[in-house]
Amino acid sequence: MKIYEKASAKINLLLDVLHKREDGYHEVEMIMTMVDLADRLEMTELPRDTIIISSQAGYIPLDEKNLAFQAAKLIKDRYNVRTGVYIHLDKRIPVAAGLAGGSSDAAAALRGLNRLWKLNIPTEELQTLGAELGSDVPFCVTGGTAIARGRGEKLEPIATPPQCWVVLAKPPIHVSTQEIYGKLNAKAISRHPSVPRMRRAIEHQQFYEMCQAMGNVLEDVTVRLYPEVRQIKECMLRLGADGVLMSGSGPTVFGLVAKESKVARLYNGLRGFCKDVYAVRMLS
Ligand code: ATP
Repeated sequence: MKIYEKASAKINLLLDVLHKREDGYHEVEMIMTMVDLADRLEMTELPRDTIIISSQAGYIPLDEKNLAFQAAKLIKDRYNVRTGVYIHLDKRIPVAAGLAGGSSDAAAALRGLNRLWKLNIPTEELQTLGAELGSDVPFCVTGGTAIARGRGEKLEPIATPPQCWVVLAKPPIHVSTQEIYGKLNAKAISRHPSVPRMRRAIEHQQFYEMCQAMGNVLEDVTVRLYPEVRQIKECMLRLGADGVLMSGSGPTVFGLVAKESKVARLYNGLRGFCKDVYAVRMLS
């Protein structure tokens, strides 16, 4: 038996850090949504008790370090599954980009294996399992649009944002989420973005207000280390994006655009100095 799952990329419309916790994690408030840029997972049941991962992408681990492998191992061990799985990952989301590609693969593996092995695990339980793999995995299990609190695992679904285009540009650098959080001084954050303001803008479908409400407190940290992130932001604004923000810990920057007529200009302008550029829709 063979099944397929789509693993979509997420963007952070808002990312705030409240404080550093005693367990070393940061207490965050984020508003996340999915965009139409996705990896594809093909999962085939194997009679042997083994997990095999393959991918056309040469730049991700294919062993137990792969998050899809870890998801398969977790679900196998927890539910005593004796058969195995071969997972082929068609990788399209850029890696270490702030788009939760690995987390989304892990979530897609949890959803897919739940079906493949007919385990009937409820969604909430899949999310609890996902939290063991990474803070963004629970959100990726369901997708949609949500406020995430705690270390990212406490989710409150909210309305779908007003429809728009999302132009994403990733400079040719890999950013480690751990490094960026490590360099953040949570006590020194001068301006916190407002979750209630962003939530209102989304609920009232006010696109331009949503653009104004966007904010990410990790941006200053990443920009200090990688000035090209600021250059891309400035370039997007010059080219007419309505709202511009770095996603997650970066380095991907996204621009929101209401009018389709502006998208080609933005896309072509960015392609001038950045290879990884995507023009996609927000997922409803
Ligand atoms: P986040 O936004 O959740 O912090 P990210 O987009 O910044 O994630 P990922 O693309 O998930 O980062 O990759 C982070 C690391 O995870 C990379 O170093 C990569 O080698 C490793 N990794 C493990 N499994 C995968 C996978 N299936 N796809 C991509 N990267 C993976």
